Amino acid sequence: MATICLDPGHGGHDPGALRDGMAEKDVTLSIARAARDRLIPAHSVVLTRDTDVAVALAERRGIADAAGADLFVSIHVNASARPAAAGFEVLVRSEAQPGSAALARAVANALAARFPDRRNRGVRTALLAVLRQERPSCLVECFFLSNEDERRLLARPATRVALGEAIGDGCVEFLRAPVPPAPVPSVRRPVPAGAGRERTGRRTAPSPRPPGSRPA
Ligand SMILES: [Zn+2]
Repeated sequence: MATICLDPGHGGHDPGALRDGMAEKDVTLSIARAARDRLIPAHSVVLTRDTDVAVALAERRGIADAAGADLFVSIHVNASARPAAAGFEVLVRSEAQPGSAALARAVANALAARFPDRRNRGVRTALLAVLRQERPSCLVECFFLSNEDERRLLARPATRVALGEAIGDGCVEFLRAPVPPAPVPSVRRPVPAGAGRERTGRRTAPSPRPPGSRPA
């Protein structure tokens, strides 16, 4: 069982994006609750807010710290000055904790599976203060409130549930197949003479990927 911190964006005096009477803060809370329902009771879930209140960014990180959260997922809805901008995307900090990119990919893949007809904008990097964390963390932008078609979609409770379930599924998938640990320099982990490799038989040829390279 893992502890997952879900962070519904905005709240209280900070509505986030606003279009046609819809506020981002309400959409993000619905999605986060649906994600929580997907994850419990197999996992423990902490929300940074479960009501319409303002929570400072540092406080959101503090809630994850206090809960000893293994993962942190911030949930937002996008908006753009370009009405045609559409789709979902997952953001990570470029210097993020190593698992963050894998978590973001897992969440993006789960969203793509759930919404195959919608644009997958993929995983992008951004300097987001709320993601400055010691744990794998990412920020999901669930469609565009500024896009008329997607706004109609987001107005439907079923869409919010589907978004939350996909985010939950992405977390579960990441927990099931966590990233291998980053390569450790051999000087810090000396191998006794004759000890050989621990995992024999899994590979008969040298790795096609040089150490330290990033997976595609
Ligand atoms: Zn937002």
